[in-house]
Amino acid sequence: QAKDLGRNTYSFFSKKMNTMMLRRFEIEEQMHGALERNEFVLYYQPQFDVKKQKITGVEALLRWYNSALGNVTPDEFIPIAEHTGLIIPIGRFVIKQALSFLNEWQNAHQQKFTMAVNLSPRQFRDKELLGFIKDSLSESNVNAEYLELEITEGVLMSGQSHIHDALVEISELGIKLSMDDFGTGYSSLSYLRQYAFDVLKIDQSFISGIPLNKADCELVNTIIAMAHSLGLTVVAEGVETKEQLTLLEELGCDLVQGYYFSKPIPAKQLLDFAVSYK
Ligand code: C2E
Ligand code: MG
Ligand code: MG
Ligand code: MG
Repeated sequence: QAKDLGRNTYSFFSKKMNTMMLRRFEIEEQMHGALERNEFVLYYQPQFDVKKQKITGVEALLRWYNSALGNVTPDEFIPIAEHTGLIIPIGRFVIKQALSFLNEWQNAHQQKFTMAVNLSPRQFRDKELLGFIKDSLSESNVNAEYLELEITEGVLMSGQSHIHDALVEISELGIKLSMDDFGTGYSSLSYLRQYAFDVLKIDQSFISGIPLNKADCELVNTIIAMAHSLGLTVVAEGVETKEQLTLLEELGCDLVQGYYFSKPIPAKQLLDFAVSYK
């Protein structure tokens, strides 16, 4: 009987693993032609300035619909794109698309919004990354100061010299640098000092605990104070309730982003959305 049980357990896990591997394989296979088939679309999530009470920018978030797989979330496909290196052409598409939309959006509203774009570690292995960004900025007629590049500790921790050089060049070009998901992993203060970060984004896992969880409130308070003492703009991620907003306002948080204001939305919808908030 023990043997039967053992065998069942084994087959249960292997089945599950099989399904997972199959899914991964299928995602990888479909991803190869996805750019050419125009399956990737950017959505934009507004960031609100708490004091000014208006949208000052957005974060570009990638969406993928594939006819065989349906919607695949970034949490599922970005790691695979990283692993295969497909993140490089996909990431270039994101940069181009986001900047060209930013130009359109700024023109439509006669207002200088900010565009935040996520960059993952592998993208820094692209020797032409900075050249590509520079070209995209001039082609889309967007000033470098309105582009913000979001990176996580994963990028910094690899400690590779080309990453160091790229981060220095990013600041020298006048592009903003943002520390994403702050508070998770090995967020180290030394990174914040070492590189010219402009923005710090408090991870949503801390925001979800406030205002009820006192430890989270303390942490958020401390992070905001520390970030301000370093001259950084603070963004709270994943703001879903009025109560969270109220506390963040009290603590002096600069910008908020989350479902309370808006989910990530398509370009067309954003053009209308911003008007109604002016
Ligand atoms: P992230 O950069 O930390 O983005 C924030 C995530 O939180 C987004 O998930 C967003 O939709 C979600 N979010 C925003 N507000 C709320 C809220 O109030 N409640 C909840 N529960 N969630 C909220 P998304 O779009 O699924 O993206 C997940 C991650 O995938 C991103 O995390 C980012 O690391 C990565 N990613 C997305 N687009 C790109 C891209 O174009 N390039 C790269 N390299 N990575 C990307
Ligand atoms: Mg981000
Ligand atoms: Mg984040
Ligand atoms: Mg994240």
